[in-house]
Amino acid sequence: MNMNFAIDTLYDTRDADGDTLKLLIDTDDSGYLFAAAAKRRREYYGTDIYIRGLIEFTNYCKNNCLYCGIRAENVSAVRYRLTKDDILACCSEGYRLGFRTFVLQGGEDMYYTDGVLCDMVSSIKSAYPDCAVTLSVGERSYESYKALFEAGADRYLLRHETASPEHYAKLHPKSMSLENRKQCLFELKEIGYQVGSGFMVGSPYQTLDCLVEDLRFLRKLEPDMIGIGPFLPHAGTPFNAFEKGSLRRCLNLIAILRLMFPYALIPSTTALGTIHPDGREMGFMAGANVVMPNLSPNGVRELYTLYDNKLHTGSEAAEGLSELRERVAALGYNISYNRGDVNRDCRV
Ligand code: SF4
Repeated sequence: MNMNFAIDTLYDTRDADGDTLKLLIDTDDSGYLFAAAAKRRREYYGTDIYIRGLIEFTNYCKNNCLYCGIRAENVSAVRYRLTKDDILACCSEGYRLGFRTFVLQGGEDMYYTDGVLCDMVSSIKSAYPDCAVTLSVGERSYESYKALFEAGADRYLLRHETASPEHYAKLHPKSMSLENRKQCLFELKEIGYQVGSGFMVGSPYQTLDCLVEDLRFLRKLEPDMIGIGPFLPHAGTPFNAFEKGSLRRCLNLIAILRLMFPYALIPSTTALGTIHPDGREMGFMAGANVVMPNLSPNGVRELYTLYDNKLHTGSEAAEGLSELRERVAALGYNISYNRGDVNRDCRV
């Protein structure tokens, strides 16, 4: 198959058959693919890179995903929770720095009942009505999602991690269900959230067919935001001896996602920056247009370790925005200080 022809077809039709997708996911010759994705991104978002202030407010979790460093059974994890006042202080600092989206991320920590979370969300929205609040707190009931939306939450991130039932069963304990996760995502959409999903690249037992299944699931969901990142092992998990995911495959997938979902907000994740010193910049060049610097209090940043050696300083930190601005400008892009809502219409 002529690779450039396949990329042109993906650009025009926003879809491809499974064999073509597998070829593109695995190619070492990605120049034309990245150029097509960069062109597509410019058509929808110009040169803007959107920033989100990430507040990791609890590393307690009731679940035991086999790949995750803050899984309940990892007794070596030092646990913490932030109070509403802690979180509002993070928002205040973030607002001063120019952030207009706050992402509240945590494990599935039942300490944060609907009442506690709704109070946090409505307090942030009353103090900063021009800001978006994104939640990333896992699987909850329809009623809970609805209450949080009514309290003012605008967006919700829930990565499905893998859309293949067989693969899902190898990454999660029996108590967890892929069906429930998928149902949560469709419920979040129905309620009215801007919804984000995504998956790990290179997780144990993943095949190219699994990745095609991930792309097919996203096609059904049509999320506003899509986050992917390489699997990175954590010493305190059953997957500690597995190889990390491939940077190249991750970048190829960012470009494929940009071509399949031109309107999507796609972050260049901290995991990419962790796997390679210029990983985040490479993500932008492959089609990503969002970055989520860490706005958590300094004392807890190194405790939210989903994987080993996670970056949390320099341009990964909210206070490193000027460094980030320079790094992005060197690529021909610019940091945007607006809310950065999804844009479903091509501008050209
Ligand atoms: S991946 Fe999420 S749900 Fe699973 S153990 Fe980690 S924090 Fe909990």
